[in-house]
Formats: sequence, C-alpha cells, structure tokens
Amino acid sequence: MTNKYDVIIIGGGAAGMCAAINIKLRDRSISVAILEQLSRVGKKLITTGNGRCNISNININIDRYHSENIAFAEFALQNYDNYYAADFFSEIGVVFTYDETGRAYPYSLQASSVVDAMRFSLEELGVDTFVDTTVLSYSKTENFFNINTNNGDFICESLVIATGLYSGGNKLGSNGSMLKILKNAGYKTVKTTPAIVQLKTETDVVKSLKGIKVNADVNLSINETAVRGEFGEVLFCDYGLSGPPIMQLSREIERQPGDKVITLDLMWEYTYANVCDILNFRATALRNRNLDEYLTGMLNKRVGQAVLKMCGLKLSDSVATLKNGDIKQIASIIKGMKFKVTGTTGFDNSQVTAGGLDTTQFNPQTMESERERGLYCIGEILDIDGDCGGFNLQWAWSSAICAANAICEDFGV
Ligand SMILES: Cc1cc2nc3c(=O)[nH]c(=O)nc-3n(C[C@H](O)[C@H](O)[C@H](O)COP(=O)(O)OP(=O)(O)OC[C@H]3O[C@@H](n4cnc5c(N)ncnc54)[C@H](O)[C@@H]3O)c2cc1C
Repeated sequence: MTNKYDVIIIGGGAAGMCAAINIKLRDRSISVAILEQLSRVGKKLITTGNGRCNISNININIDRYHSENIAFAEFALQNYDNYYAADFFSEIGVVFTYDETGRAYPYSLQASSVVDAMRFSLEELGVDTFVDTTVLSYSKTENFFNINTNNGDFICESLVIATGLYSGGNKLGSNGSMLKILKNAGYKTVKTTPAIVQLKTETDVVKSLKGIKVNADVNLSINETAVRGEFGEVLFCDYGLSGPPIMQLSREIERQPGDKVITLDLMWEYTYANVCDILNFRATALRNRNLDEYLTGMLNKRVGQAVLKMCGLKLSDSVATLKNGDIKQIASIIKGMKFKVTGTTGFDNSQVTAGGLDTTQFNPQTMESERERGLYCIGEILDIDGDCGGFNLQWAWSSAICAANAICEDFGV
C-alpha cells in the first residue's frame, strides 16, 4: 500500500515537528505525515539542556552561528527569532523563562513538557506520525516524490528532510543516513565534525584532578595563534577537559589542522604582577608551612598542588625554600595553565554537528532545494551550527518555520 500526503517530513525531531505543526496551524486541510525511524518522536529533544531543554536564547544573533556560508542563516534567524519562537510555543502551551545569561527554557524546566506539547499538537492538528519507519531512498517523478521505507512506500508533493546529522549517536537517531542519500543524489556537502563536545588532552595533570571544577578564563590557540576565549566553569576529567567554556571552544578542534592548546587563567581578575605580589606576600607569611599548603585558600587545594608540581617543585619542601624564579613560574602557570589538546570525545558525545549540506544549494528564505523543486532541508542537516546556549534549537525552529511558510504558500494558503 502506498500512503499519499501533500507533505511528508522525514525526521520527527525538533525541526520536523516544528515544521509539521506550523503547516497545520496555518491550514489544516494540507495533509502532513512525519516518518520517524525511532520508536518515538522527539527522543533527542527530551535529552536537551540536561533534561531542561535550553529552547532558545534572548541574544539570537548571526555571530553565534557558524557555516561556510553564514549569510544563508540571516533571513531565517532575523525573521523567526527567539520572540517568534516564544509566540509559537506559547500557542502550543509552552511558556518561556530566561536565565541571567539570556538562555531560554520552558517555565516547567522540563524538556519532556516541550516534547509533550509538540506531540499533543501533532495529534490535535491531524498530523500522521509513522514511527519505526526508516527512509531508505527517495526519487522524484514530475510532480511527486516517492519515498521508500522499511514500512512501506509513501508519495508526496512536498518533501521536508529534517533528519539531523551525527550528534548524540545512534540511540538518538543520529546516523547521518539521509546525508548519504542526498550526497548520492548529487548534493554537495561540507565536512562534518563534532562541536559542543568535551576535549581530550594529554592526561598526566587532568587525570589527577578528575572531578574538580574551577572557574577560569579559557582560551584556545592553534599553532600559538589565539582563536577564541570563553569564561566559565571547567571540569577536569580523566580524559581531558569539559564544562561550558570548553564545549563552546571545541568546534575548531577537528576542523583545523595544527597544534591546539587550551590555556586556563585561574585568577582572571588579577594581573600577572598582582599574582606575583600575592605569592611573594604568602611566601613570607606562610614560610613555616610546606609547599603542599602554599596555595591553599587561594586556589582549589588539589589544583594548587598540581600548579606547584607543574613547576617541578616538591610538595614536601618548605615554603621558605621558594626562590624569586619559582614565584614567577607559579604565577605564570596560575595565569596560563596549558593543556595540549589531542582531540574531542566524538560525535556520540557532541551536541551538534558542524558542516552538513552545502547551503548554497538552498533558498535561504524557504529552505527549498535549488536542485529539486518541492524538496526542503531544515535543522541540523544543513551546514549551520550554533554556539552552546539554545542557538541550535533556535536554528531548528527558524529554519522549520521558513519551510512551513513556503510550503503553505505553494499550496496557495
Ligand atoms: C545531548 C544533547 C543536548 C542538547 N542540548 C541542546 C540544548 O539544550 N539547546 C540547544 O539549542 N540545542 C541542544 N542540542 C542540539 C539540538 O538538540 C539539535 O541541534 C536539534 O535537535 C537538531 O534538530 P533536528 O530536527 O535538525 O535533528 P534531530 O533533533 O536530531 O532530529 C532528527 C530526527 O530524524 C530522525 N531520522 C534520521 N534519519 C532518519 C531516516 N533515514 N528516516 C527516518 N527518520 C530519520 C532521527 O531519528 C531524529 O528523530 C543538544 C543535542 C544533544 C545531543
């Protein structure tokens, strides 16, 4: 049996559900189906923001996005921004709240409530959802797309591809299968790499500090050239470094060649000279203690001890043995604790995939393919990725609404 719809959306994730709801909100008479390979829709969405769903950000701005063709994202993000998303979600029952940095969450602070609201809307609006349905191929005859799945064949006039890429791994439906299908159909792609991901570093120091969190000014350099800086809480792990500023800086690690180094400024509010003054004062005031307690009360105790070991000092020696050169070296490491980056923890642990479908093949106002009329690509499968902080879900909403509006116009609504 072949199922025929006006619109078929492949992928019941953030972008796919948003597109389906927006088409139906505008015109219920357009028949819409979602084909989702997993047993439920919204499986990734439910895990976002540590289960709280960082749904958008008050500071939506093109500067927070990355692509080989960043101008492509401007129309969607400007016209369907966080305020538009807040109105859309309020219409389906989700109220936004913002934290002090501008990150938006559902007021419930439950990602599951966002998925529920979207799921209920799909049902109420009459969208047919086919789960456990993996799209294997598609082809186009003059006016129709034929879609072949493990669960029968489907036909539609407009086809929306909202299948994401690799981030989160297979359990969240992220295997990039549609990217391969589109590539075989002749679409150009931009190299895909994990972004918003933990970093692997040389492990001698980080392993000893496993589980400790410190606030730091964090900088990434590639071949000794500063690339980007972020401030926030860094977590030491047995494999390397994690925490918001590390995730934020991770995008370039697998995209650019060269030696990558993460530098932590552990006393960002003080200059190097200030830190030397403080260390000199302590060298006198605490001269009766051993070095293992020299930095206690100034840095996390174990981090302080690691700093001293990085200077080649013996923790059992007395503070009184410190020389002027030692103090300068300790201050240098406090102001710039360096970790050589060896890689990332990979797609399974990443929140977003950088790269994807080359956006020059799509219309930025509609997300429609310039190669195949009636085919739209939205969300993460396109070569657009955002920073950590709600920017990726906002891209899913903005791009989905562009496609939904264009499809409605095609159907004369
Ligand atoms: C752990 C984690 C936490 C995150 N937290 C946040 C956050 O708080 N804020 C934020 O902005 N972003 C966050 N992100 C990123 C955000 O979730 C994604 O950018 C967004 O979900 C992308 O939406 P999408 O619809 O394009 O793809 P997805 O949400 O990945 O949906 C794609 C869907 O397509 C289905 N599919 C794939 N191939 C096929 C096929 N061949 N046939 C049928 N179905 C198929 C998949 O099963 C999947 O359900 C997070 C990501 C992860 C992994």
